[in-house]
Amino acid sequence: MKEAGLNMYLYEHANIREQSSWVHRDNPVEATEKAKELVKMAVAKVRLLKPVQTAFIDVNQRTLVVGGGAAGMTNALSLAEQGYAVTLVEKTDGLGGRATEMRYSLKGEDIPAFIAKLKSDVENNPLVDVVLNAQVEDVAGYLGNYRTILAKDDGSKLEVEHGAVIIATGADPMEPTEYLYGSNGAVITQSALEQQLADKGLGGAKTVVMINCVGSREPEKPYCSRVCCTHAIKNALKIKELDPDANVVILYRDIRTYGFKEEYYTEARRKGVIFIRYSADEKPIVVGNGSKVTVTVTDHVLKQPIKIDADILALANGIQPRPDTEKLSQLFKVPLNADGFFLEAHMKLRPVDFAADGLYLCGLAHGPKNLSETIAQANAASIRAVTLLSKGRLESLGITAELDEDLCKGCGICVSACAYGARVYDERSGKALVREVLCQGCGACVAACPSGATQQKGFEKEQLLAMMDAALG
Ligand SMILES: Cc1cc2nc3c(=O)[nH]c(=O)nc-3n(C[C@H](O)[C@H](O)[C@H](O)COP(=O)(O)OP(=O)(O)OC[C@H]3O[C@@H](n4cnc5c(N)ncnc54)[C@H](O)[C@@H]3O)c2cc1C
Ligand code: SF4
Ligand code: SF4
Ligand code: SF4
Repeated sequence: MKEAGLNMYLYEHANIREQSSWVHRDNPVEATEKAKELVKMAVAKVRLLKPVQTAFIDVNQRTLVVGGGAAGMTNALSLAEQGYAVTLVEKTDGLGGRATEMRYSLKGEDIPAFIAKLKSDVENNPLVDVVLNAQVEDVAGYLGNYRTILAKDDGSKLEVEHGAVIIATGADPMEPTEYLYGSNGAVITQSALEQQLADKGLGGAKTVVMINCVGSREPEKPYCSRVCCTHAIKNALKIKELDPDANVVILYRDIRTYGFKEEYYTEARRKGVIFIRYSADEKPIVVGNGSKVTVTVTDHVLKQPIKIDADILALANGIQPRPDTEKLSQLFKVPLNADGFFLEAHMKLRPVDFAADGLYLCGLAHGPKNLSETIAQANAASIRAVTLLSKGRLESLGITAELDEDLCKGCGICVSACAYGARVYDERSGKALVREVLCQGCGACVAACPSGATQQKGFEKEQLLAMMDAALG
């Protein structure tokens, strides 16, 4: 049997198995023949089977958490409370991230007090090493045994050995480029409005207009930023609480106060907040009017332009990936989605894991989400890391790929074929080695290798050829 026919044969074999279940219903004689053929093939393979050995590696029980926002702090605390050491690296000079810009939640909770408590619990936990003003410079090793170099702003370096990694690097707000933002003092972001309302109140403002979907759901950023509709309604309710007679008008494309947040949308309407829908092709027009602005929007029901003089125009700007996300994705060899956020292994089955084991993600780094979702996801990521750390040592699967170093030409095709980071190019030998504990036995590198240098234990070429001969001979 020629090797070239191997793949074709296996395809046929898969078909035979599929067909036999159909034939079995309609034609018992043919089904028996097929079954005999399959048994012959199995026996031919079994005769050539060799014992497979598994490999073990010890797991370093420290976790590196990258990013010291609400997500990273929650990770660190959760892991430390379960008895695991953590190195929490933060690139700025303080913990907290975006949450430090928030003053109150939709339910009226005191966010600064919550963040201050989280920060103090993290800083005072003896199992958490907080490294500020530092970033990841280099990552070596793999699941259970990473060695990461952190570069500090003062030029010093710190080497951390750890078994797992959680990426919690957050995201940035989009800087508005429309509606006179930056050139007229009356035009601010929702975050700035929140801070103003909490710190100074309305400051005599009688009419506040809000524009939603600023920067999001545009051709360059087609995704919904998820938090901004709720942010606008949160601030609108705060304005009505401070001054029930104030006028609040929200110009929106769709209201996405998902889940139970819908109740706050209803409450805002009940309290007199006016909602006017605009379309993406007919955006509101804003012109300066002394210390105020005049906003013109075409009402989609009346089909008439409406002019509103506003003391404050608050823009619901969206959320975008940080500029260094790409660099981090290359360092840790983890993928990004089409919008530039980190991509989970499976949206439903492995929502806080990367495809490669030992790496987890949470918070805004994964995509737009509110603070409570960030915290829930961060706790989930920590639990996933603990499922690895608690094992102490890892055992590889039996059916891993194995390399014949004499045949390997060092072309690296198998390295790109492996989705689990289990093939690594070794500069010293010029060969692509197999990291057995990472190998999931998928066989992709075996199929990709043009030199026949890689085989999979339990599915070796001789065994498959013997099966084919048994079937055809
Ligand atoms: C404009 C805007 C408005 C929002 N409004 C609301 C709201 O009204 N209500 C609500 O519930 N939620 C709101 N959110 C969401 C909320 O802020 C987040 O869910 C939460 O704060 C995210 O926390 P995080 O830790 O994932 O990210 P971040 O807070 O962004 O923290 C990430 C941290 O990682 C650090 N970092 C980044 N890169 C690196 C690196 N390479 N190395 C080391 N450290 C790094 C950053 O400096 C930062 O401290 C809003 C978010 C934005 C952007
Ligand atoms: S949450 Fe609302 S304002 Fe924000 S992008 Fe989505 S639809 Fe637009
Ligand atoms: S694809 Fe084959 S020949 Fe190329 S590096 Fe990998 S094992 Fe070696
Ligand atoms: S068999 Fe699959 S998981 Fe294992 S090294 Fe090859 S491509 Fe990677």
